[in-house]
Amino acid sequence: MDYAAALDTALNRLHDEGRYRTFIDIERRKGAYPSAVWRRPDGTEQDIVVWCGNDYLGMGQHPAVLSAMHEAIEATGAGSGGTRNISGTTVYHKRLEAELADLHRKEAALIFTSAYIANEATLSTLPKLFPGLVILSDALNHASMIEGIRHGNCEKHIFRHNDVAHLRELLEAVEPGRPVVIAFESIYSMDGDFGPMREICDLAEEFGALTYLDEVHAVGMYGPRGAGVAERDGLMDRIDIVNGTLAKAYGVMGGYIAASAKMCDAIRSYAPGFIFTTSLPPAVAAGAAASVAHLKTDQLLRDRHQTQARILKMRLKGLGLPLIDHGSHIVPVHVGNPVKCKMLSDMLLEDFGIYVQPINFPTVPRGTERLRFTPSPVHGPELLDGLVKAMDSLWGRCELNRAHLSA
Ligand code: PLP
Repeated sequence: MDYAAALDTALNRLHDEGRYRTFIDIERRKGAYPSAVWRRPDGTEQDIVVWCGNDYLGMGQHPAVLSAMHEAIEATGAGSGGTRNISGTTVYHKRLEAELADLHRKEAALIFTSAYIANEATLSTLPKLFPGLVILSDALNHASMIEGIRHGNCEKHIFRHNDVAHLRELLEAVEPGRPVVIAFESIYSMDGDFGPMREICDLAEEFGALTYLDEVHAVGMYGPRGAGVAERDGLMDRIDIVNGTLAKAYGVMGGYIAASAKMCDAIRSYAPGFIFTTSLPPAVAAGAAASVAHLKTDQLLRDRHQTQARILKMRLKGLGLPLIDHGSHIVPVHVGNPVKCKMLSDMLLEDFGIYVQPINFPTVPRGTERLRFTPSPVHGPELLDGLVKAMDSLWGRCELNRAHLSA
């Protein structure tokens, strides 16, 4: 086997399909986010503003988070030094789990090294706990849920995105008495649309199914204590397992599930992705716990976040740019062409110091390529103004249409 040639073939395939990813090197400056420095491959530097980050509320530089992390490092050192089972469970991990269980009004929570791992480990383990399980999964669920469901090797069916009539059909086709899990998200991050949570909970109740909800793009930002859309809509007690991240609105790292004590105990005991890996560094757990605790009371920050998103959407719509607007904090501008999408992104960066990553296939379907902006409370009015003016001038230069896409 010529291994190098095989790797070339795999990489060339990506280049040929225009799917090869390049990362740009940026350095965020504490206290100055969303400003950052872009280090070009030739060694030169440029000041930029990050418009596509998932540190949605700027909590990655919040003093309460940083001081909790410093304190924990001073107290306990860098890594945890073990798996949860073998010397890697500390007071910091326990505190974070208690904070999260309280957030979601659940009996327990379990932390993982990321929400990706939390989804993968939990969904792949559920079939071991419920023999004969059928998982019904939304067509646009995140890769981590898809991978988890695949690895669980149980019967699965995909329902068309947000289509509760299709979900009902699939539920009706399951033999009575078999265990069923319905897996879906509260906010789908590429379009920023909401899952029909109430209808899905109604169906789950009618058919005796469990609900598994990914709130990764909502925790910290929705609901009076930041527990997500389920909290906002008064549906928390109808969700059996909720998944969230500590890496986006909470600004740190890690993921979790919150559920009944028995469910968490079973996942803790059976999921290889929980058992056979080193636990989060204590300082990370401490910072995340401080962030979760802070956002339970900082409604002002949540309000400012939503206001920023509304202002940006209003101004881009005012220019006639085709916005995908479902009323969430995510602001996708439809470009519909991979080359122009990349070109726009390059010109924004080079000419205006505005960093927004182009979103192309396979992350979104071909023909729906887009720029996805994530305004935050720390993007001030001048930055917002600069972005709107830059988009206005470049849209014309790239010969793109000005038309509205409605939700
Ligand atoms: N679930 C969804 C819907 C996501 O969009 C992501 C990441 O973007 C994840 C899970 C994984 O989150 P994490 O970054 O904590 O692994």
